[in-house]
Amino acid sequence: MNNVLDLIAYKNGEFLPLKDIGPSILDFGFIHCDATYDVMPVYKGKAFCYERHLKRFQNSAKRYGLTIPNVDTLEVIKELAKRNPIENAFVWFIIWRGYPSSGNPRDLENCPINFAMYIKPSYPIASTPMVKLYLDKKTHRVNDDYYGQQYKNMAWIELTMSQMNCPTGFDTTVLVDTDGLVTEGPGFNVGIVKDKVIMTSNKNVLKGITMSVVEDIANEQDINFQRMPITTELFLSADEVFITSSSGGVTPTTITGSVTDLLISKYEIKKDEYATKL
Ligand code: PLP
Repeated sequence: MNNVLDLIAYKNGEFLPLKDIGPSILDFGFIHCDATYDVMPVYKGKAFCYERHLKRFQNSAKRYGLTIPNVDTLEVIKELAKRNPIENAFVWFIIWRGYPSSGNPRDLENCPINFAMYIKPSYPIASTPMVKLYLDKKTHRVNDDYYGQQYKNMAWIELTMSQMNCPTGFDTTVLVDTDGLVTEGPGFNVGIVKDKVIMTSNKNVLKGITMSVVEDIANEQDINFQRMPITTELFLSADEVFITSSSGGVTPTTITGSVTDLLISKYEIKKDEYATKL
């Protein structure tokens, strides 16, 4: 496989080249962000946390009124893995509203729904093993009062703006909310360790599956894990800062230490424990 667009993907009951499954420029999924998705990692050919990703995708689709067709998603993933053998990959679940023949932007009931899945190679989150994270106090993450950040959505605009503001010498950024509390970054949750307690933001963030695995590990290891407001002062005084994502698992930042090391090693074990054979 030389070009990712030649991979075989799935859309509305058919297996097609990835380049042929995209939305029309008229689709509300494209012009109104009327869409949602989920991304699940595949490690050594096995799906990771399949049930959790599927559940989050179903919850997000329900939130936005996008009805998922009756498809056996695990069977689709197995077929995708067979047709595109990739050891370490991402599986995308994606659903979006098309456009009605009336052309009326309020004619939602006559919009077709498009459901697609594809598998593609995963990429590292940073060029160095330790991420240099910049605290962006100027760009605000959208509050849960709007659509609810626990539901995945396509609106990455403030995350993208923050990444564009990332100063030279840093890999990526972490945004604050409108109360000035630390939230998350473009594609990852943020965890801090202070006095052996792991803390992560309790609102205005996506409920990341990787962070839920960190929570499981913390419970098993008798480490106190708290979802709570993280002030910038608390963040800046942390003993350790790590980020979590399906793309990088538990990734250390330049402020790291023994708790992060433990989480990284236990996460490796979880890759087998929480695996579904494809
Ligand atoms: N936060 C945002 C905004 C994300 O887009 C993602 C992943 O795409 C995450 C956090 C991490 O979530 P997960 O661990 O489920 O990949």
